[in-house]
Amino acid sequence: MFKNYISNNQKLYYFTILIVITIMTMGLLIKNPLIGELGVGFIVHLSIVVIISVSLLLYPKYGTHRFRTIIIIEAFIYFYNIFFLYPETWSNFIFLCFIPAVAIMFFDSKLFYFSLIINSILVLITFGFIGFVDHGNQYIYIKQDLVGNIFNYVGSQALIYFIFYLTNLRVKKQELYYEQIKQAERLKTAGQLAAAVAHEIRNPVTVVKGFLQFFEQDPQFNDDVKSKFSLMIDELNTAESVVSQFLSIAKPDKKQDIESVNLKVVLQSVTDLLNSYGLLNNNNIELEVKEDCYIAANKIELKQLLINIIKNAIEASEIGESVIVTGGMKQDFVEIQVIDHGHGMSETEIECLGTPFYSLKSKGTGLGMMICYNIAAKYNGTIEFQSSINEGTTVTIRFPSKN
Ligand code: ADP
Ligand code: MG
Repeated sequence: MFKNYISNNQKLYYFTILIVITIMTMGLLIKNPLIGELGVGFIVHLSIVVIISVSLLLYPKYGTHRFRTIIIIEAFIYFYNIFFLYPETWSNFIFLCFIPAVAIMFFDSKLFYFSLIINSILVLITFGFIGFVDHGNQYIYIKQDLVGNIFNYVGSQALIYFIFYLTNLRVKKQELYYEQIKQAERLKTAGQLAAAVAHEIRNPVTVVKGFLQFFEQDPQFNDDVKSKFSLMIDELNTAESVVSQFLSIAKPDKKQDIESVNLKVVLQSVTDLLNSYGLLNNNNIELEVKEDCYIAANKIELKQLLINIIKNAIEASEIGESVIVTGGMKQDFVEIQVIDHGHGMSETEIECLGTPFYSLKSKGTGLGMMICYNIAAKYNGTIEFQSSINEGTTVTIRFPSKN
């Protein structure tokens, strides 16, 4: 995430780093009491400033968690170093309190908790040192009010935690937003591709179907052959319906005619269509529609929804198992249930349904359920899944009834 953030804000990052380096250098060179001696203290201070500067400048190249950890450790060394090297500068204590904030800058929550804990241990040791070893000789301002300083430290950590919490929340939201945009982009590309492919497939399918229908009427062929023709036509119908499913992703905004659809008629035609598909693996579709009920929707879209859900049920079933489709009124709703005794789904798999390209089938598109949810939402309907692994799935689809 931070890598993204950096690449989007390269200039801002380097600008900030430049300011940080300048301040560190100024602290090193301007009115530094150690500069005259050129002793060990000054050399250590100088080295750590150089090391941090180089690390910060190199960071965008790598952007790894390990690199961030190294920078945080360097920050620890730097701030504790200046705290102990320059005891007369009381404000160095403030920097100690704010070391965990460096991890916030990197949007790294593991590192944040790590530095929060390490820092508290180190501050405790430092206070122990001042109280028992140094006896407040060099750190009078801390020793004079040790308890007050401890409270201040705890308060500052709480404040930093609060800032971390809010920032984290915002970053998470932004990540989600990026993810959604990416998904929408993918969908758009898939839609364009689908439209192109669907268009190319539709024409040959129509031509072949036309010839088959023509041959079906031809007395030259005997009945046995003719029954094969009608099977072939059924298959082509399935192919056509898949193609039109694809086309509906490509043109999601196309205005559709809403009519009063008789559920019984639609379910009958959908099961007729899919029966030949089910017969491939000897899966029977049992249809039970009790009464006539009506849904205000576009007929083609409603068919698309039912086709995909029943098709999924067939595909989940073992050879020879039946799929049961029921339809009828349930209070004020029209309720359709598609019941299979197939391999079923886990909770997590159910949660993934409707995500574009989510498919566990080798030849699946993972677009079917997404289209179904879209269509259901369009007509104020709902789709519910109840499933257990190896026992089967019941899909319940509800639409407001149109009287
Ligand atoms: P596709 O059928 O192209 O894989 P769908 O969106 O229609 O895409 O379905 C997504 C996935 O949901 C399927 O790959 C399958 O794993 C699972 N699924 C859907 N319906 C059922 C069902 N009735 N039983 C078991 N799994 C199902
Ligand atoms: Mg499907």
